[in-house]
Amino acid sequence: YSPTSLSFEEATKRAEELRETLDRYSHEYYVLDKPTVTDAEYDSLYRELVSLETAYPELISGDSPTQRVGGTVLPGFEKVTHDIPMLSLGNAFGEQDLFDFDRRVRKLTDKKVEYICELKIDGLALSLKYEEGKLVQAATRGDGVVGENVTQNVRTIKSVPLKLKKPYSIEVRGECYMPKEAFVTLNMEREENGEDIFANPRNAAAGGLRNLNPKETAKRNLNTFMYTIADFGELDAVSQSDALDQLDTIGIRTNHERRVYETIEEVWAYVQEFQEHRSGLPYDIDGIVIKVNDFEAQKDIGYTIKAPRWAIAYKFPAEEAHTVIRKIEWTV
Ligand code: NAD
Repeated sequence: YSPTSLSFEEATKRAEELRETLDRYSHEYYVLDKPTVTDAEYDSLYRELVSLETAYPELISGDSPTQRVGGTVLPGFEKVTHDIPMLSLGNAFGEQDLFDFDRRVRKLTDKKVEYICELKIDGLALSLKYEEGKLVQAATRGDGVVGENVTQNVRTIKSVPLKLKKPYSIEVRGECYMPKEAFVTLNMEREENGEDIFANPRNAAAGGLRNLNPKETAKRNLNTFMYTIADFGELDAVSQSDALDQLDTIGIRTNHERRVYETIEEVWAYVQEFQEHRSGLPYDIDGIVIKVNDFEAQKDIGYTIKAPRWAIAYKFPAEEAHTVIRKIEWTV
C-alpha cells in the first residue's frame, strides 16, 4: 500500500503498531543481543514507518524509533556520557538511493566532492578515549548519548593499543567485531557444552563486549576497526582519508579496503564489487559506508538530529541464514 492511500486514522493506528513492534525488536537486538527477526525485516518495517511519518509529519513523536539512535545501557555497567554524541547513519537500499544521496550532497556544498568508501563492519560501535597516549576509557554507543563503560573488557582486545605511538589526547570511534573464524569456533564449543548458540558474529561480539566478566571477553577473540575521530586533540587532519592514515601511524587499527572516488558511478562499482565478494572476507560486513571525504565540505553539508548528511550506509540485501553458515565453513 502507499501511505497516502490510508486515512489519517488508519495511518495513526499503523504507525503506532510499527513503533511498538520496532521498539520490541530493538530491545531484543541492542539490549538482549538476541534478535528474533532479520535486519532486512526490521529495515523494511522501519522504512514503512518513515514513509508514514513523511506523508503525515504530525505522526512524528520524540519517542519514535526514527528519532532515536540504538539501544540503552545495561544495568551492571557504569554509564558514560558521550561529550560528542555517537550517531547513526542514514541508509540506502539500492542504486537509486545512492544517486539521490549524491544529488543532495552536491546541492549542499560548492566544494569539489570526493567520496570515501569504507566497509560497513557488522559489529557494534565503540568509542576509545586516550589521554596523553594512554587508553583511559572505552564505551559502547548505547542510545548515542549515554553508553556503557566497557574499559576493562576492551583492554583484553589485542588490537586496541593501551598506549599510542604518540602521546596524543584523542577520542576515536569504530566497530568492535568477532571474526568469522572465532564465531564458528565459539558456537561449536557452546553447542558441545549444551549452551545456546549465537545467531551471528555481531550478537556474539555484543555479548562478549558487554559481558560483566572481562575474562569472558578475553576468550571471545574480538577485534576492532576504528573509523572516525571524535576529538582530534593534537591530530590535525583535513579529510576522512587523511584522518584514517594518521590513525594508522599512531598504532590504531583501521580497515584498508577503503577507497576514494570522485564519481557516484565509481562508488556504485565498489559497492557491487564488495557485495559479490563479502563472503570471502574474514569478517561480516552488512554494507558499505560512503562519506564525503573533505572535512570542509562535510561542514557545509551538516547533520540531521540522528546522522550526518554527508554520509550514507548502503545496506546489502540479506544473505539467507543457511548460506551464511555454509560460506563461513568455506572460509574457515
Ligand atoms: P546502521 O547499522 O544502519 O549504521 C550505523 C552504524 O554503522 C554505526 O553506528 C557504526 O556502528 C556502523 N559502522 C560500521 N562500519 C562503519 C564505518 N566504516 N563508518 C561509520 N560507521 C560504521 O545503524 P544502527 O543505528 O547501528 O542500527 C540500525 C540497524 O540495526 C538497522 O538498520 C537494522 O538492520 C539493525 N537492527 C536490527 C534489529 C533486528 O531485530 N534484527 C533491530 C534493531 C536494529
